[in-house]
Amino acid sequence: MAEQTLFTKIINHEIPADIRYQDDDVTVFADINPRAKVHLLVVPTKAIASINDLTDDDALLVGKLVLTAKKMAEDLGIAADGYRLIFNVGRHGGQAVPHIHLHLLGGEPLGFGGFATKAASK
Ligand code: 5GP
Repeated sequence: MAEQTLFTKIINHEIPADIRYQDDDVTVFADINPRAKVHLLVVPTKAIASINDLTDDDALLVGKLVLTAKKMAEDLGIAADGYRLIFNVGRHGGQAVPHIHLHLLGGEPLGFGGFATKAASK
């Protein structure tokens, strides 16, 4: 069996998280270190490490991640004012958890500098 990621453990309820939505394909939970009033992570059950590891077979799943984020934004009443969706990819992209996740940020005006790190100068 593939090694479990941190997010797989959340999806399987092995470690606690503020889960807002879950079905067979996708789980949505609150980011533990929110960078905006609303900061959710939309995570596929399938533990794909990063966008770099996607194949054509994953096209529907990626679509579902985006559509789930859209629905969450609508349900939270933040869609009309706008929000941001981010996939961080790899080291330069600032990806810390090797299990694809879509950040949904919103609920307030967002600057453009989110997720920049000092360590990114290498
Ligand atoms: P990345 O930097 O990989 O794109 O984003 C990973 C996100 O996961 C970060 O925003 C971080 O705050 C969040 N995170 C890391 N560990 C946990 C955890 O144990 N629980 C939750 N809910 N979020 C986490």
